[in-house]
Amino acid sequence: MARNAVLGGGALGLTAAYRLAQRGESVVLFERESMPGGLAAGFPLGASYLEKFYHHLFRSDTEARDLIEELGLGERLVWPRPKTAILVGGAIHQLDSPLSVLRFPLLPLADRFRLGAATAYLKLEPNYQRLERTTADAWLSRWMGCQAHEMIWKPQLRAKFGDRYRDIVMAWFWARVHMRSTSLGYLRGGFQQLYDRLVEEIRRLGGDVHFGTAVERVEPARQDELDVTVAGRTERFDRVISTLPTRLTLQLTPALGEDYAARFGSVESFGAQCVILTLDRALTEDVYWLSINEPDFPFMALVEHTNYMPPSDYGGRHLLYLGNYLPMGHPLFKLDEDALVAKFLPFLKRINPAFEESWVKEHRLYRAPFAQPIVTLGYADRLPPHETPVPNLYLANMSQVYPQDRGQNYSISMANRLVSRLPTHPSA
Ligand SMILES: Cc1cc2nc3c(=O)[nH]c(=O)nc-3n(C[C@H](O)[C@H](O)[C@H](O)COP(=O)(O)OP(=O)(O)OC[C@H]3O[C@@H](n4cnc5c(N)ncnc54)[C@H](O)[C@@H]3O)c2cc1C
Repeated sequence: MARNAVLGGGALGLTAAYRLAQRGESVVLFERESMPGGLAAGFPLGASYLEKFYHHLFRSDTEARDLIEELGLGERLVWPRPKTAILVGGAIHQLDSPLSVLRFPLLPLADRFRLGAATAYLKLEPNYQRLERTTADAWLSRWMGCQAHEMIWKPQLRAKFGDRYRDIVMAWFWARVHMRSTSLGYLRGGFQQLYDRLVEEIRRLGGDVHFGTAVERVEPARQDELDVTVAGRTERFDRVISTLPTRLTLQLTPALGEDYAARFGSVESFGAQCVILTLDRALTEDVYWLSINEPDFPFMALVEHTNYMPPSDYGGRHLLYLGNYLPMGHPLFKLDEDALVAKFLPFLKRINPAFEESWVKEHRLYRAPFAQPIVTLGYADRLPPHETPVPNLYLANMSQVYPQDRGQNYSISMANRLVSRLPTHPSA
């Protein structure tokens, strides 16, 4: 029977391994961490898991929803409509519906109409190709108006992409507006349950899943087979699917060659970091997502998870994420946890003046490299296909998601598509 290796046990690798196992193929998955889920993994808290990085689904995430149903977890998927807002001019302003745009007090009425009209256009326009030759910065400034762009979108683009914000392709921004719903889906008890269930199913179908196994090398062997080295031990496979970041796959696979590396190794990514605070009470009255549009703040989003899911799911704790995307070498990415928390906490008083540091009962810090691809003009032309120059080695990772922002749904759907078009017996 053909042997498949899948590298990486996030949403993409687990779904690919599950689909292969469902076809009756032999599959072995190698994951570096001690548990599944990758960027969407959680840690136990109370009777639930909490994601290391904030996570929710949109109504348009149909393949994630279908997989959750298929694995018998559908009853736990809930769709609240939590409040999202921005912090600008020293105050919190709700900005998540046409009415809230019309009521937004910091822009003249004419600009609010323009902002609403441009947003409606992006919601209704089905064709993103016509937005591929312009940047989000240029398009938004032109169609939403300079003032609205400077106040609302530019700070968010800059917070997410740093100095690269000027080059972000408008098609990416289109997808953010076009595909997203105001109801947000959450797997009550944590998305970790989806990834644990996938591991159970892969094993039930005869596949192997190994944790704590970092892949060290992938090399072509005789007859188009591939040798995968893990912890100094080499195993031979008929087919390998790497879901690791492209740059990492290139490092592990010298046989991909310099031309391929020069052509596809240039996609940049930022890392992500989230401080998670446990408070003994809520910080904001009812805001789930707060984009921070104040230039001096050291974090770009405050996500009050327990204004979305009830604190009782987490033993009565109130949970906040303070998140950033940063170049991997950024000084904030190197600060230790205590220093970072000490830097962040004074800013919470500007969100709720009553905040006292004594409200904080625990904190944690999570960081991940290669967490946010930088989707600049011409991105589509720099995307590698799944087939590589090494026979039977396939590359499938979240940097190949386009024009949508990466997300669990798109990793799941990429895995579904890739496996469905792979021949059942590559060695035949
Ligand atoms: C801050 C943040 C917020 C997000 N919010 C959302 C959201 O609200 N909704 C949503 O749907 N998505 C969200 N996402 C995106 C989502 O987490 C990802 O799109 C998705 O989890 C990617 O899955 P993946 O399998 O493609 O990649 P990954 O999850 O990165 O999986 C790759 C796996 O490879 C493993 N690995 C790395 N090196 C090796 C090696 N040498 N050997 C073996 N294994 C290795 C890693 O440990 C990891 O498990 C967010 C991401 C971040 C960072």
